[in-house]
Amino acid sequence: MPVPVIPATESANLIEIFSSLQGEGLLVGCRQIFLRLAGCNLDCAYCDTPFQPSESCRVETLPGSGTFEEWSNPVGLDLLLPLLERWRGDFPGAHHSLSLTGGEPLLQVGVLQQWAPALKQLFPLFLETNGTLPESLALVVDELSWVSMDIKLASLTGVPTPWGDHEKFLKLAARVNCQVKVVVGDATDLHEIETVARLLRDVAPAVPLILQPVTLPSATLLNPRRLLELQGCAARIHPLVRVIPQTHRFLQLL
Ligand code: SF4
Repeated sequence: MPVPVIPATESANLIEIFSSLQGEGLLVGCRQIFLRLAGCNLDCAYCDTPFQPSESCRVETLPGSGTFEEWSNPVGLDLLLPLLERWRGDFPGAHHSLSLTGGEPLLQVGVLQQWAPALKQLFPLFLETNGTLPESLALVVDELSWVSMDIKLASLTGVPTPWGDHEKFLKLAARVNCQVKVVVGDATDLHEIETVARLLRDVAPAVPLILQPVTLPSATLLNPRRLLELQGCAARIHPLVRVIPQTHRFLQLL
């Protein structure tokens, strides 16, 4: 997969900034500030995340208030830092970390490189990524405290899984706290899960694998027996397997 050319710039195209609970993976229940960057290099069939760049982004007026104001894009660090400093000062201890999410945040890695030293003075940095841009991750990985890397399976996305890119990415991501998350549904093939589990076993044996059943607001969409079959298939190869649904949907949180 070609790596996009990233212009060095001090401003980022954002979708939104808000405070909520992390609803996925090992940090489920930890409160974070979410910085959602615009743009994505994939086009997953099940995507329900707004990531298209626009002239403005929405910014929560107070953490957790659910009310928003509009900021013009692109947003500079001169605007962002005071907001984060205010939220940290007014809500001491409330936020575990700053989630850099998307879309695919590594598409704007030039900005992240410039921003990370200042941002991590305020909050540990947690990157949520589709795990396909290893050359971009290499530029910022040492600034991060966590990498949450998705592997999107062809049976759900409708496009081939870029296994080679994922392998390069995982080798780098395993230098920090890392988890690999895989959305699974009734269409998920056992061979795909075996391939993921072998990748972790061979490249990053200490990294946990999170199986995330496709989740609706009130239920998961996966047959429970099939879910356990997938779990057993993965755990035979790579024992560090956890099954965790998207909990923020049950809580009706952002
Ligand atoms: S990687 Fe994430 S944001 Fe991008 S299309 Fe897929 S689900 Fe949507």
